[in-house]
Amino acid sequence: MEEIRIPNSATYSPVSLLELGLAAPLVSRLLLRSTPVGLALQTAALALYAGSVVDDWLARSGVRRIDFRTVFGADVRRLPTMPVADREAEVRVLVERLNAMYTPERIPRPELARRVDVHLTEVIAGVTGQRVRTSTEIRGVSLMSVVFPFALGTADILSGDVAILRDTGIFEPHVIVHELAHRKGYWKELHAQVLAYLALAGSGDPVLVQAALAERLARQLTTLEGDDPAAVRARVRAAGLIEPVERQLVSLRGRTPDPISGAVSDAMKQLYDLRMRVTGQNGLSDYDEGFTAFLWALERGPHADRVPAGPARVWTRTPA
Ligand SMILES: [Zn+2]
Repeated sequence: MEEIRIPNSATYSPVSLLELGLAAPLVSRLLLRSTPVGLALQTAALALYAGSVVDDWLARSGVRRIDFRTVFGADVRRLPTMPVADREAEVRVLVERLNAMYTPERIPRPELARRVDVHLTEVIAGVTGQRVRTSTEIRGVSLMSVVFPFALGTADILSGDVAILRDTGIFEPHVIVHELAHRKGYWKELHAQVLAYLALAGSGDPVLVQAALAERLARQLTTLEGDDPAAVRARVRAAGLIEPVERQLVSLRGRTPDPISGAVSDAMKQLYDLRMRVTGQNGLSDYDEGFTAFLWALERGPHADRVPAGPARVWTRTPA
């Protein structure tokens, strides 16, 4: 099978080149009271960054991209509406399956990134006939966590730089593979969510399948209860999950922020929602309402076999 390797050089730098480039003059003025050192560092960092972006862009020119509408029957601009009754039914199925298959096993982050990347590469290759090889380097710190306090991970779509900002327990395989989907060139959130789900669902690895089911459940609950942490909390507690899953779900989706970070978070979410809409996406709803409706329609439609059989497939195909 054809292989394309994207160098992703920027991801191997010990610190984010873009953030170093942006912050160097300020930091050197504060620490060294010297502007020239900062400017020299800034120039060097931004030159390396630009070189890496250009190399990746050239390598990416031969990549065939998945046409979601043709392959899966739905896309950002062609999303079905999932009835509330089906959402409620899906929650019950997901709760049952998560309770039955719960595993406390954790995979160390570097190894986890390598493993999920293999499955993601195969899912994409299964459609396009091309293995797109990319870096599996992940950062643990980023200035973006100050700007987007609600973000779990960030991806710089130009350089492919990825940071994972919080330990999300059973959700971590999904958070990582979602960001790696961006790195492979799928920069729309709905696309990253769907490819991440399919990669984990077909992995045959209980830790990874568990993350797929947990993500799908969390997104259903957010769709049903909106952005109200207290309501999400109440619904999670009423759902009948076993304790470790319930605790991790509440910690991810049901925490009421303090008033200041809550206000910052709300303002940035609105900006982010706008940014998504001006880039041809539906807005933040693509992460949850759109993602869950996409899977529901896919599993019931003519392309149902794209979702691997097993616990991650919830619905059966409905005759046309
Ligand atoms: Zn994303």
